[in-house]
Amino acid sequence: MARIIAIANQKGGVGKTTTAVNLAASLASIGQRVLLVDLDPQANASSGLGIAKEAVSASIYDAIVDGADLLGMLSPTEIEGLLVVPSTPGLAGAEVELVAVADREYRLRTALASIRPLFDLVIVDCPPSLGHLTVNALVAADTVLIPIQTEYYALEGLGHLLNTIGLIREELNPALEIEGILLTMFDSRTKLSQQVVDEIRTHFQDLAFHTVIPRNVRLSESPSFGKPALLYDRSCSGTQAYLSLAQEFCLRTGSAPSLA
Ligand code: ATP
Ligand code: MG
Repeated sequence: MARIIAIANQKGGVGKTTTAVNLAASLASIGQRVLLVDLDPQANASSGLGIAKEAVSASIYDAIVDGADLLGMLSPTEIEGLLVVPSTPGLAGAEVELVAVADREYRLRTALASIRPLFDLVIVDCPPSLGHLTVNALVAADTVLIPIQTEYYALEGLGHLLNTIGLIREELNPALEIEGILLTMFDSRTKLSQQVVDEIRTHFQDLAFHTVIPRNVRLSESPSFGKPALLYDRSCSGTQAYLSLAQEFCLRTGSAPSLA
């Protein structure tokens, strides 16, 4: 049964999608069977994995709003072992349509039930809000991974996110745990980046991943080629950081593959 990880932070542009795509690709490259679910109407994870908008006939919208079977929408990627359920801009409508739907918080959980036995890990890329879509991800997930950008306002909004996670635990998904906090876009040339790392480690201790993702232009270039960074530039610091995050992730969760 796949473990389901939501990648969430209502703050925009903190590295959720970059992490979803590159962690998923790295985990697949070390032998895990991985499904990436794009739950953001911006569809950045879909396009970043080379899924052309025109090629999407059924998307996560159909699963969430109409109850369509995810089995029919698993799209292959260039990485063996990594499949994706694509999103489309129309998913934005789901935020409104779900208001009138029964079990609106459980739509993703229900949709994932049928494909869960086929994967080791399901990674859900959330949109930058705490609306119905993110709530669906947090209700479906076993754990939530929170990317935080190492910049001045890094901790802004984090309290609100942790509060929401607490409420979801109380009301909808008591088993939800925090997978970890991931520091992204670290710039070794600035004191500020190091200060944010120190602050997060002091506050959250072991909850923060040891791996820190550096600011690396290759990570921002690769989506325009529809590839995860490891197919675009295997040796760049960004690719290497996400590969070590994948190793750390597996060691932490006890699903360690061979390190070969
Ligand atoms: P949104 O909230 O809009 O969904 P997000 O949290 O998913 O954003 P990303 O799209 O992953 O964030 O990243 C925001 C921008 O920063 C993108 O242009 C991305 O390419 C770039 N970026 C992300 N991580 C890095 C990094 N480590 N180094 C350099 N650029 C990065
Ligand atoms: Mg995103």
